[in-house]
Amino acid sequence: MEEPREPHVLILPFPAQGHIKPMLCLAKLLATAGLRVTFLNTHHNRRRILHCGPSISPSSLLRFESISDGLPDDHPRSLERIEELFLSVKTAMKAHLREFLLSKSAEQPVTCVIADGIMSIGIYIAEELSIPAISFRTFSACCLWTYFCIPTFIHEGKLPFPDDDLDKEFHGLPGAEGLLRRRDLPSICRSQVNGNSYRNFKDENIAMTRACALIVNTFDALEASMLSHLATIFADIYTIGPLHAMAIESNVGHFSGRSESVGSLRIEDWSCMKWLDSQASRSVVYVSFGSLVKITVDQLTEFWHGLVNCSRPFLWVLREDAILGEKEENVKSLLLESQVTSETRCVVEWAPQEEVLAHPAVGGFLTHSGWNSTLEGITAGIPMICWPRMGDQQINSRWVSQVWKIGLDMKDTYDRSTVETMVRILMEDKKEEIMKSMASISALSSDSVGPEGSSSKNLQRLIETIRKISQTVSH
Ligand code: UDP
Repeated sequence: MEEPREPHVLILPFPAQGHIKPMLCLAKLLATAGLRVTFLNTHHNRRRILHCGPSISPSSLLRFESISDGLPDDHPRSLERIEELFLSVKTAMKAHLREFLLSKSAEQPVTCVIADGIMSIGIYIAEELSIPAISFRTFSACCLWTYFCIPTFIHEGKLPFPDDDLDKEFHGLPGAEGLLRRRDLPSICRSQVNGNSYRNFKDENIAMTRACALIVNTFDALEASMLSHLATIFADIYTIGPLHAMAIESNVGHFSGRSESVGSLRIEDWSCMKWLDSQASRSVVYVSFGSLVKITVDQLTEFWHGLVNCSRPFLWVLREDAILGEKEENVKSLLLESQVTSETRCVVEWAPQEEVLAHPAVGGFLTHSGWNSTLEGITAGIPMICWPRMGDQQINSRWVSQVWKIGLDMKDTYDRSTVETMVRILMEDKKEEIMKSMASISALSSDSVGPEGSSSKNLQRLIETIRKISQTVSH
């Protein structure tokens, strides 16, 4: 009789911070459950991760490997040139992925590919090599459902709409009637709906439906309605989030030393934790716009003065590559003028965000509403002020403010008086009301990752599915 096939999962994230982190949590959870896992970064990102510290694998079952993304070493891989990265992934990286999987087939054949929902190359190459594939979407279910409805909106003539009347109500998203304004739809719905990005996004959606299952980094109680709509498209959905909380709960989240098991592309500045220790309970506003968003010097100046005028301590993550247009010197002098080093202000290039949000001194989170940041805010129970910029951020922001009522939506505004007003509403005027909703959502989140929680059970189901589909692979 043939030996049972040993499962070997290949995890393929899109090469960006917000994709690597949750998929790495999944990799650690699967390895802890006894599955062999290979986490595949790009050479470029692996170098960046290793630059942050030594490589310490959390488990002998979890291995880190890399392939080329096809771009030259000196390519910035920044938001302005992200289309080039997408194109290179679809062409050069696709070929490298095929070679990589073929090279594994002799010694340790891959029996299941878990591909990021925007890495259709993973689904297509797996299909070509007869390896079962599962799609992992790092977005919220509300955003994902909206994405799948976009072709219908176009067919009905609702899209594209002009960029100038964004506060107009938008009707037609099943499950969200009366909730949406044009501005809340993914930015792709504005003028780009006929362009390259739209075609890309449509291809990715099609590829996702070819996978045998879908993983979403959310939890049932948070997005039940949107998930029930998604279930009309996907027969087998695994909601196993918040993954960072699942990783902590299963004791695979925290390791000392920066390493590949942390998956940070930038060096975390832990000095801010000491600064937080000196602040009063729930007094600090934590400001971070994620790993990709860029701001103009004008926006920087307005946010700065708005925060200063609140007379509250704040901790701001200001990446060196976050400021658009102006020379670095101008920004430095602005920050110097604003007396960066002070008892009540702390600016770092990159923070250990999960730990920051869990610190008792933090009382509010000014965020761009990236999905990881939103989930991290929910888990830590920190209410949010949302300043969404692109992609899924707008719809996440709408859900935070209108559905879950755990924060405020700043829309596109950023003048200093709005910033000041928002912080005051969040942390003073409406504090009790918002904290009450946050406490119940946060409790649901922690239940979902508990031993009997929906996400824990779904993870067990996923592991069984991986074992089962691994048996179908013939070599
Ligand atoms: N992050 C971090 N330190 C920072 C800022 C962000 O570790 O100073 C992490 C954050 O915890 C989150 C990720 O970077 O896990 C950002 O992902 P998100 O989906 O929020 O936004 P994106 O960067 O994809 O726009």
